[in-house]
Amino acid sequence: MELRASALTVQEQLTPRQEELEQCFERYPDVPREVIVKEDVLRMGVRFSPSALAQTDQTRPRTYYIFSYDRTRLDDMQHDESKVAPEEARIAGGRWSLRPTLISARVEYHSPYEITAPEGRLLLTAEGAPLAEVEFPPLPAYYDLSHADGTPYSQTAGLVGWGTRAFTTVLRGCQLWGEKEECQFCDLNSNSRALRQMGRPYKTRKEPEMVAEVLEEIFLNQPSQEIGKTMYLVSGGTVIDRRQMIEADDEFYLPFVRAIKRRLGDRWPMHLQTFAKPKERLQPYKDAGVDCHHANIEVWDKRLFQIICPGKAHFVGYDQWLRWLCESVEVFGEGRITPSFVIGVELSEPNGFATVEEAVASTSAGFDYLMSHGVTPRAPQWCIEPLTVLGKPNAQKLVPLDFFIQIDRAWFQTWKKYKLPKLHGWPNMGPGNCYYQNGAFLDMGVGEHLEDPYGPLLEPSLRRGEA
Ligand code: SF4
Repeated sequence: MELRASALTVQEQLTPRQEELEQCFERYPDVPREVIVKEDVLRMGVRFSPSALAQTDQTRPRTYYIFSYDRTRLDDMQHDESKVAPEEARIAGGRWSLRPTLISARVEYHSPYEITAPEGRLLLTAEGAPLAEVEFPPLPAYYDLSHADGTPYSQTAGLVGWGTRAFTTVLRGCQLWGEKEECQFCDLNSNSRALRQMGRPYKTRKEPEMVAEVLEEIFLNQPSQEIGKTMYLVSGGTVIDRRQMIEADDEFYLPFVRAIKRRLGDRWPMHLQTFAKPKERLQPYKDAGVDCHHANIEVWDKRLFQIICPGKAHFVGYDQWLRWLCESVEVFGEGRITPSFVIGVELSEPNGFATVEEAVASTSAGFDYLMSHGVTPRAPQWCIEPLTVLGKPNAQKLVPLDFFIQIDRAWFQTWKKYKLPKLHGWPNMGPGNCYYQNGAFLDMGVGEHLEDPYGPLLEPSLRRGEA
């Protein structure tokens, strides 16, 4: 589909959402409009009209690859969104001539944003007013394939980022359990339970050979004009054995690394997400072929880390987590240690910061410290999922849009300040070029010092304006 940059409609009166967005455009002239719109749609979630859902037969559906990323409970969805709605949508054009921007489509029945198709053309609307044109991600051919035991390939490894990245959650369960251990924003365990209760083919624990089989199919057999193939990410919950040993994590994850590398070799970067580890325990992963490691610190403030991530605080501790993160650059190199923050939990009730200013100052200090040590944190936006400790009914206010904009700006400025390389293996950055869906920090721009250090990573058909 040709994405048009023309205004969709002549509209005299701005809706309240449009007004707030335009005020932000004026307040932050250095921030691309795409960043502001994207953070707002992520923050508020989106509804799908029946006319939009009717256009999803050739669309890549949700696989609930790790968390639910929905604000509305699965069992409250009335239009089968959990099966047919896409995981992400690409918007462009509209009254602000937005460049193509990929956004995770987080279902929220109370959102002012709706994706609809009144005359057969997909549109994003806010309070009923058209904002931009919409594309859904294409259905990859391998989503029709299954393993010998009948498990769909798509349940073993799905695609995200408009098909640029493969993602496999090899353990859809975490052994940090209950309010004293589980991270308070995380619905990995409850999402897994909810999907299995609904009778979905949602295997909790995957087999290394099955994961390797699907990644081989994606990277070696699937047509590259359909799939960008820039990297793959292996993730899953934490493994702690009966003796309360966190080293059990290695016995579980290393066999996946070896099985995958045996089939794929080193052509595509492997990213691995696990608990933090000291460098002696990371070296075997590096030796086995892992290219990048993510030990997600989630929140910078030490007090909040201890409250929001009680299991991480108990088994590793904040200071040690931080030390191990910085030391792991010695094993993998700059641009290859990319722990995630859950941007927004800094302002969560009841323990978060009281003001946007304090929250921005804290997380910006975290960016600065980590990047000064060669660590490149990622900044996805918190989705307030209903089956989490923090997501209980009426427990949270919406985090202000200003906060997310200021965080994206701080991330980009700090990244440029330390002249860090791009996240290894990730597709291009910058407005109109970004293929990350869960936050807008990579939509900010490409640093002047860094045009495109890894060369063109995407097939021409996937590049901006040529889809
Ligand atoms: S470590 Fe925390 S964020 Fe990760 S899966 Fe377990 S509870 Fe969720």
